[in-house]
Amino acid sequence: MPSNLALLEQLRWKKFPVLDDGFVCLVDAMGDDEAIVQAARVSYGEGTRRVSDDRTLIRYLLRHQHTTPFEMVEVKLLVRVPMDCWRQWIRHRMASTNEYSTRYSVAIDAAQTTPPDGWRLQAAGNRQGSEGVLDEQLGADLTAEEVEFQKQSRAMYQRRLALGVAREQARKDLPLSTYTEAYWKIDLHNLLHFLALRMDVHAQQEIRQYAQAIGQKIVQPLFPTVWEAFVDYRLDAMHLTRLDREVIARLVQSNSIPATEDAFLAAQDPSWASLTRCRERDECRAKLVQLGILQTQV
Ligand SMILES: Cc1cc2nc3c(=O)[nH]c(=O)nc-3n(C[C@H](O)[C@H](O)[C@H](O)COP(=O)(O)OP(=O)(O)OC[C@H]3O[C@@H](n4cnc5c(N)ncnc54)[C@H](O)[C@@H]3O)c2cc1C
Repeated sequence: MPSNLALLEQLRWKKFPVLDDGFVCLVDAMGDDEAIVQAARVSYGEGTRRVSDDRTLIRYLLRHQHTTPFEMVEVKLLVRVPMDCWRQWIRHRMASTNEYSTRYSVAIDAAQTTPPDGWRLQAAGNRQGSEGVLDEQLGADLTAEEVEFQKQSRAMYQRRLALGVAREQARKDLPLSTYTEAYWKIDLHNLLHFLALRMDVHAQQEIRQYAQAIGQKIVQPLFPTVWEAFVDYRLDAMHLTRLDREVIARLVQSNSIPATEDAFLAAQDPSWASLTRCRERDECRAKLVQLGILQTQV
């Protein structure tokens, strides 16, 4: 296995493609798995070396949300992202950002285009989500329309610039699909928080692809022990609320596992029972199905 410095050199400036013209790219990193252990041992003392090896310590820290040792590690990325996706990204405040200025420079001449089979349909049950895709024939029409629109808006922008309009004003009608570039520096604690939120199925597919690339192509190889713990305790973990636990307890008490939908409804939290639609009940149902406690309906 290459040393951490060799690995860093291998990864630096390597552009991992995302979407049709975006990328994530590691510019620099400070620290590794060992730096987290070293920071933790300052607070817990040399005694920890006897009771736990490095892997056990990192797993303990992550499991119990002892977060500051993870803040000792910093990662700096260069990213190329469509502006609509960047708008979600920039909500993560615990990072330092420097974005390409379209006041100072001509806007990047690239816009993200959705392929004919990539037009997702509005989800019926989740107002923020999507499910399934539009028929490809209709999708091809939308893609052609999009390409034409992007061409026209770019031509309008170029005409304004050619007439001497200031870049800061000429840009105002460029679509949100226009790519922007930014340096983004964040500590590992906040990066894991970003990844947990943005790799989640509830995040929009586009930003999810960026989060997956950062997670799998950069964080995983640079911090293998942290990544393993992150997958075990955050990414693939499940949070049970008091209400969820009590539903499970009632199902166990009534000897109803594996449970049917009727048994689940009988065991649901009393505060959900009168509601026709209840998001919390749906979330509890999904967890129980994932655990194999509740049978899926045929
Ligand atoms: C699936 C999904 C849907 C979303 N939908 C919407 C939406 O509809 N509308 C919308 O506006 N946003 C939406 N967001 C954005 C979301 O509300 C957060 O703004 C975003 O995810 C950043 O999270 P954060 O604040 O935890 O991260 P960061 O800003 O990086 O902050 C990290 C942590 O630092 C602490 N922190 C940072 N700043 C402060 C502060 N000022 N005060 C106290 N603590 C602070 C908090 O503990 C915070 O969790 C959505 C996000 C996701 C993942």
